[in-house]
Amino acid sequence: MQILMFGPPGSGKGTYGSKLSAKFGIPHISTGDLVRDEIKNETEMGKRINDYSSRGLLVPDSVMCQLLQKRITQPDCTGGFILDGFPRTISQAQELEKMSTTDLVINVQVPDAVVIARLGSRLTCRSCGAIYNELFLKPRVSGRCDKCDGQLYQREDDRPSVIQQRLELYQKQTQPLLEHYERKNQIRNITNNQANVPPEEVVEEIVKIIQSDSN
Ligand code: AMP
Repeated sequence: MQILMFGPPGSGKGTYGSKLSAKFGIPHISTGDLVRDEIKNETEMGKRINDYSSRGLLVPDSVMCQLLQKRITQPDCTGGFILDGFPRTISQAQELEKMSTTDLVINVQVPDAVVIARLGSRLTCRSCGAIYNELFLKPRVSGRCDKCDGQLYQREDDRPSVIQQRLELYQKQTQPLLEHYERKNQIRNITNNQANVPPEEVVEEIVKIIQSDSN
């Protein structure tokens, strides 16, 4: 099973993707995490892409496709995966089609105001990448990750000025992808109008959609 999670930054797709991963026993692959790992590990590629990422710009397609190919050819991906943050351009979608077959695209629709509220209070674990929120999804101990006790921080690209830019970029570059997958009849929409809907409720809805599609 190969599912793509679509939605603007801060739509909750990362949180939903990781919960779906646990439910279906397939990995959740966030290309944002792949990018951050390269930067954190100070690899050659990490040095090249750091500037794009910290300014909220898209990393070049060729680099992203290379990173993704490396990840999805790992043994844990043989039963499928949940992809979050990829593709972001038509060219990436075409490359993905050469690498594997997509079953469904879950499109999380969230108003800009909700995105801004969510991202402005989002916290990320420096060690394992787990996501929390100061308002809606608090860690058990303030500033520490529930899963690995890593330090929580506000991502460079979650600053208000960068959020606005990422939203504009999403509209401009990623929306045409919806039309691409619409033509293939693979889009399933989930609407989330409020910032504080428990992720479990949304995930339950997504699971129903996936199951009804596979019947
Ligand atoms: P995200 O966590 O998905 O918001 O991604 C964080 C950053 O990683 C983005 O702002 C981009 O700089 C980079 N990135 C992640 N996925 C992609 C992608 N599919 N194409 C280009 N850049 C990406």
